[in-house]
Amino acid sequence: MKHQTSATLFERAKQTIPGGVNSPVRAFKSVGCDPIFIDKAEGPYIFDADGNRYIDYVGSWGPMILGHCHPKVVEAIQQAAATGASFGAPTEREIILAEMVREAYPNMEKMRMVSSGTEATMSAIRLARGYTGRDKILKFDGCYHGHADSLLVKAGSGAATFGVPTSPGVPADFAKHTLTATYNDLEETKALVAANKGEIACIILEPIAGNMGCVIPRSGFLEGLRALCDAEGIVLIIDEVMTGFRVAFGGAQERFGVRGDLCCLGKIIGGGLPVGAFGGKKEIMDMLSPEGGVYQAGTLSGNPLAMTAGITTLSLLKQEGFYDQIEEKSAYLEAGLKAATAKYSGPTCFQRVGGMFCTYFQAGPVNSFADAARSDTDLFGKFFRQMLEGGVNLAPSQFEAGFMSIAHSQTDLDTTIAAAEKSFAAL
Ligand SMILES: *Cc1c(COP(=O)(O)O)cnc(C)c1O
Repeated sequence: MKHQTSATLFERAKQTIPGGVNSPVRAFKSVGCDPIFIDKAEGPYIFDADGNRYIDYVGSWGPMILGHCHPKVVEAIQQAAATGASFGAPTEREIILAEMVREAYPNMEKMRMVSSGTEATMSAIRLARGYTGRDKILKFDGCYHGHADSLLVKAGSGAATFGVPTSPGVPADFAKHTLTATYNDLEETKALVAANKGEIACIILEPIAGNMGCVIPRSGFLEGLRALCDAEGIVLIIDEVMTGFRVAFGGAQERFGVRGDLCCLGKIIGGGLPVGAFGGKKEIMDMLSPEGGVYQAGTLSGNPLAMTAGITTLSLLKQEGFYDQIEEKSAYLEAGLKAATAKYSGPTCFQRVGGMFCTYFQAGPVNSFADAARSDTDLFGKFFRQMLEGGVNLAPSQFEAGFMSIAHSQTDLDTTIAAAEKSFAAL
């Protein structure tokens, strides 16, 4: 490929940074080429170090729903920086953001700000364990909740009683407390809960699974989990780090009308700066230190620059019709991409909720990780490289969602669809 400077930077990065990247998927390993290094971004575009411009559907993996460098967000961060980057003491801005979040997620009666989605889910799980006095947790195969030890776990073989670590460095003793069920399989989940009666602290899930493409909850799945948790005294943790402020201002919980006991946010809530949040029922949240005994802390938690970026971003998202516009743009792209697949003889399946979507290289439908795993990842890699050549930046993995921003224009969408026609034709 023509990426001269990116190639040089990648070689140099590998000398000081493992794999040359600070987060694995950035290395492009699953799409068979070397990563592009980014120079700058603006609106719907990112520019690499080699001088190429791309229409961007990664959006920093979700946060940039306003497009890159929204002038109001840039200005707010600049002004905040001039009055202090960090105090390690409370500010009014933390309250303002918490109040804005609670308005959109009324079940987050109280919340804590943290600096990443990983911290939010890790803390929510500790809190659920402290609240229930139980050790086990239940997650779904293919859902990603950050990289805390107890979450890097896959289903064990056979009856799936014990979890098995997916990463060296995670003690089997930790993983055994994590049970894993099949996404969208309520009966299997119920059976797993029955087999571990009175032992499960929480069920955690992505309400739309965006870390295996875009897997939509079957009708009754979320409702069934809610009823199961109520019946068994289990804390339901809805991980909206990706879907929060993405599929609606009030996230998937607003969209589907099912509420968690605890909820995790991240990505968009920080407007591109590092922020996460977890919150829920007062009764549970008040168990956190210093009110209660469950310890949780952060030197940079509630950071003033990050709070400012979050407040400014959320106030722009609240504008009338914002999510209708995201829906309209995404539906237009969906129709165009589906039409473009006529240029290709193999099977594809497009799944979307609002401004998050995925094209799977298989017939579908995709309802679980086992389904997603049937995709032809080599073909996806080829498609990805063709699209990049055509000036379109997709997430560099079959198992990631694409994200629409408000800055994508009709011309950008048409250019994307034209590039997709060429890319499908070349497969
Ligand atoms: C991105 C993501 C996380 C982890 O957030 P980080 O900020 O990367 O630590 C957790 N849960 C979900 C659903 C995510 O998409």
